[in-house]
Amino acid sequence: AEEVGGGDKEVVREYFNNSGFQRWRKIYGETDEVNRVQKDIRLGHSQTVENVLKMLKDEGSLEGVSVCDAGCGTGCLAIPLAKEGAAVYASDISAAMVAEAEKQGSECSGEFLLDNIMGLLMARTVAGVASAIMVVVLLHAELKRFLLESLWSIWVNFESSLSKPAMAGRVWTMILILEQHKAKEQLQAGSEKEVVMPKFEVKDLESLNGKYDTVVCLDVLIHYPQSKADGMIAHLASLAENRLLLSFAPKTFYYDLLKRVGELFPGPSKATRAYLHAEADVERALKKVGWKIRKRGLITTQFYFARLIEAIPA
Ligand code: SAM
Repeated sequence: AEEVGGGDKEVVREYFNNSGFQRWRKIYGETDEVNRVQKDIRLGHSQTVENVLKMLKDEGSLEGVSVCDAGCGTGCLAIPLAKEGAAVYASDISAAMVAEAEKQGSECSGEFLLDNIMGLLMARTVAGVASAIMVVVLLHAELKRFLLESLWSIWVNFESSLSKPAMAGRVWTMILILEQHKAKEQLQAGSEKEVVMPKFEVKDLESLNGKYDTVVCLDVLIHYPQSKADGMIAHLASLAENRLLLSFAPKTFYYDLLKRVGELFPGPSKATRAYLHAEADVERALKKVGWKIRKRGLITTQFYFARLIEAIPA
């Protein structure tokens, strides 16, 4: 069983539903039950996610942009994308991964609602305290005015200057009312902007269909041998209208050597085969279907290395 689409795919599914799920959920999570290597991979992967978000946001707001996250894992990218306002469809071959992504998504929307309510309460409290201060100040001004009025009417009888503190008090009250009204409107607008979490689904890459503005596929190509990678890239490009973002472990002399050395040692990652890809091969596969690379990035830590590319129709 060597190849995705054949036995390899079943091995990958099985792995990411069981031991792979346990391993990657920890790596992609936030708890400290990770060893040094896993911590380093977590760091590298989070940099990839950050780079992707930056690449996407550089082209303009993601509000309402449809994005397909193919092989979404636990939703590390899909959820932040949804928070940016993108309409995200995210799928993965592993039911365990999708269930975890859904769980994290619902926890996030709960947090967001709570944030909104807290924000609303805070703003109301601030507005309330500010109003109270204003009332005290105004009362004070009124008192001053009253005293001045009394004193002046008794001693000076200078009519025009008497109205000044009263006028200032009135203008002040007007400004306060307007400001409060503005703050209330802003708060209402903010609380109406509800985050729509991604639609998660258990589906393998090959069964994806539909059209999306943007398709993203991070760290999945490692499960595809080059013979299958071309078809996979072509399929993802066919789903994308404007851009396709891919990350993969680059095949260079150094990384190939590193991988071969690594394979001499037993370890949990040996549960599935890992395939490196030469950037030129990925570029060729894209070219075959009329796409070209617009941006490139390289993310490396001690144990994580990924080439990130953004492709657009040529
Ligand atoms: N893209 C996610 C991220 O970067 O956070 C997860 C990356 S993880 C290393 C690889 C993911 O690809 C796993 O969740 C796995 O289940 C999924 N996967 C592997 N082969 C797949 C296929 N043929 N179709 C869909 N998902 C696949």
